[in-house]
Amino acid sequence: KVVCVTGASGYIASWLVKFLLSRGYTVKASVRDPSDPKKTQHLVSLEGAKERLHLFKADLLEQGSFDSAVDGCEGVFHTASPFYHDVKDPQAELIEPAVKGTLNVLNSCTKASSVKRVVVTSSMAAVAYNGKPRTPDVTVDETWFSDPEICKTSKMWYVLSKTLAEDAAWKFAKEKGLDVVMINPAMVIGPLLQPTLNTSAAAILNFINGAKTFSNATFGWVNVKDVANAHIQAYEIPSANGRYCMVERVLHHSEIVNILRQLYPNLQLPEMCADENPYVPTYQVSKEKIKSLGIDYIPLEVSIKETVESLKEKGFI
Ligand code: NDP
Repeated sequence: KVVCVTGASGYIASWLVKFLLSRGYTVKASVRDPSDPKKTQHLVSLEGAKERLHLFKADLLEQGSFDSAVDGCEGVFHTASPFYHDVKDPQAELIEPAVKGTLNVLNSCTKASSVKRVVVTSSMAAVAYNGKPRTPDVTVDETWFSDPEICKTSKMWYVLSKTLAEDAAWKFAKEKGLDVVMINPAMVIGPLLQPTLNTSAAAILNFINGAKTFSNATFGWVNVKDVANAHIQAYEIPSANGRYCMVERVLHHSEIVNILRQLYPNLQLPEMCADENPYVPTYQVSKEKIKSLGIDYIPLEVSIKETVESLKEKGFI
């Protein structure tokens, strides 16, 4: 049972590697810099790592870079993709690594005759931005696809990178007859295994680092352990197919602040919205398909608490 995880040092991937090792898999893990202890120490100290974790150096933009990591694997989990918002050159920093990187990894998969299925970490970013209204009576599901033109007009570069990467992956899979399954989580939170701060955990930290206001925004949220488990289920369950939206709940930022206030009455939290417009509405995300992977979501209150406790433990609070 040999599998590959790309971008193994990342937030979601670290949990994925942990769960794969605990299920007895041998894991070939790609990282950009295997000599950087901040990227690898938390992985090599996982239970089972000594015996069954192998690190490989690979970069999304280097053609053929993933060949040796993928070779001999039955399953490949492609999670590597840049996720941050403060970009100067969206094309070079986000879109190329996301799109070319995905094709680069999938291409290695077609070269290795061992590969039976590839699970790709896509995002709700590739689902929800199609211009249709999102209100409390609307249920977003796996039939929705974000519209690249809308992403461009709104300068949502990360959203665009995930939308184009997923689209490119489906086209490639169809053309080459590769078995690809897509996991589409919203904002992922919960405990951090890695010592560094990732963008979605930072979203929770941003509420508690002294800000006076919260932005007028609405997001879906889901626990990192559910997301990692769903990747494994999507690989192990033969009938798994297509894409799987993963959202425990969609909440306005004001409601996240309320939950934080209930959990931590002594924390200094933002008191008011950053603008005076009506609150951006929430919406539903279908939980039907993800149920078939046996995922019963961890409640958001638990995920928020786990995030804050982990941020404290790692010294971010
Ligand atoms: P992290 O930032 O923790 O991890 C991103 C990973 O991508 C890192 O391992 C990073 O490597 C790797 N990476 C970035 N650029 C390159 C490159 N050029 N070559 C090789 N590797 C690269 O993010 P997450 O764990 O949050 O994200 C993982 C995946 O999940 C991404 O595909 C993201 O789009 C997706 N996702 C995340 C969500 C979230 O809320 N966190 C929600 C939905 C989807 P390095 O460590 O070397 O920097």
